[in-house]
Amino acid sequence: MKIQRQLGNGMWDDIEPEFIDQYINKVLLREPWYAPRVNRTPMSTQQEVLDFLATGKPISHGDDWYSSIRDADAIKRPVERRVDFPDGRKLSCGHTVYSRSEIMSASLGSSCQDCYDRMSG
Ligand SMILES: [Zn+2]
Repeated sequence: MKIQRQLGNGMWDDIEPEFIDQYINKVLLREPWYAPRVNRTPMSTQQEVLDFLATGKPISHGDDWYSSIRDADAIKRPVERRVDFPDGRKLSCGHTVYSRSEIMSASLGSSCQDCYDRMSG
């Protein structure tokens, strides 16, 4: 576990171990307000926050866009991916994917998730 906070310049900085509690407590203070907005039950213990961070997702501790903390160790862990097409499959968007779950169907044929997000986002 290596908890980092995001800085205003977008970079991530390690939090000194003695300050980790402070950040996690700030997350917990926001939970009753924030959790319902993302359709989940508010976390109420430090352990719950640590478990959340262990999934590799960042979580906000403040109102600024960069006010997030994350567990750098969880992010480094490679995501296990299913390979359905060992040689890759070329999609209409021009990208090649290796797993069926990465194929999105768009109005102009098949596309990868990145292109799909860009088109719909
Ligand atoms: Zn694509």
